[in-house]
Amino acid sequence: MELQEYNYRFDELEVSTDIIEKFMGYEPGNSPEPIPQMIDEVLTIAQDYCDIKGGYVIQNDVDINREDKILQINGTAFDIKKIITNQLRKMDDIALFVCTAGAGIGNYSKELMHDGDFIKGYIADVVGSEIVESAMDKIQNDLEQHLETKGLHITDRYSPGYCGWSVGEQHKLFSFFPDNFCGITLTPSSLMQPIKSVSGVIGIGLDVRRKGYVCNMCDMVNCIYREKRHTKRADRC
Ligand code: SF4
Repeated sequence: MELQEYNYRFDELEVSTDIIEKFMGYEPGNSPEPIPQMIDEVLTIAQDYCDIKGGYVIQNDVDINREDKILQINGTAFDIKKIITNQLRKMDDIALFVCTAGAGIGNYSKELMHDGDFIKGYIADVVGSEIVESAMDKIQNDLEQHLETKGLHITDRYSPGYCGWSVGEQHKLFSFFPDNFCGITLTPSSLMQPIKSVSGVIGIGLDVRRKGYVCNMCDMVNCIYREKRHTKRADRC
């Protein structure tokens, strides 16, 4: 077992006005006034609200039952369904990961909404999501570089709640981390606290690659990743 932990400052991440505009459905640089100004205000304030942490643990005792679409990690079974089974089927080891932007940015978004500032509240929500995704991109890239020195490769990352994998399996995933790792906990209904957090798995092996997501095979219409995972970003799928 290999447990790795990271802390990031906001200014180490790739969270820009362009990226937030794109996530909101605007062409970068072309959102209408006063959206760019509001994004800039939120990005400036966000720096004081972040507590960005993440990490991964590598497990070697893994097996995939391709017929039943079941992933076994150290004897714990995950019902990962077809899409993730196909992407992980050639792995030899697995990294389980978690990452959070901290509670502050989510609370800031809620406060804005509560005060009736819905657009800025939504922008803060988007900024929180981009912070945690950008931090997780860095962690994944660091894992990839670390493994390349051993001649190994990684897959894209997959999370409970996406690609057919039930969010209810989150408790099993968290059982591989120390309690309160990175300050993230789970509610009884498997939601992560702080809310701006991600978790999931990354396959490792000689014959796996980051091939990009197969969203064209998926019927999850409102997936927040659908658009961005088809978007070529230097360090993302
Ligand atoms: S749209 Fe793409 S990223 Fe989203 S759940 Fe489907 S396959 Fe996964």
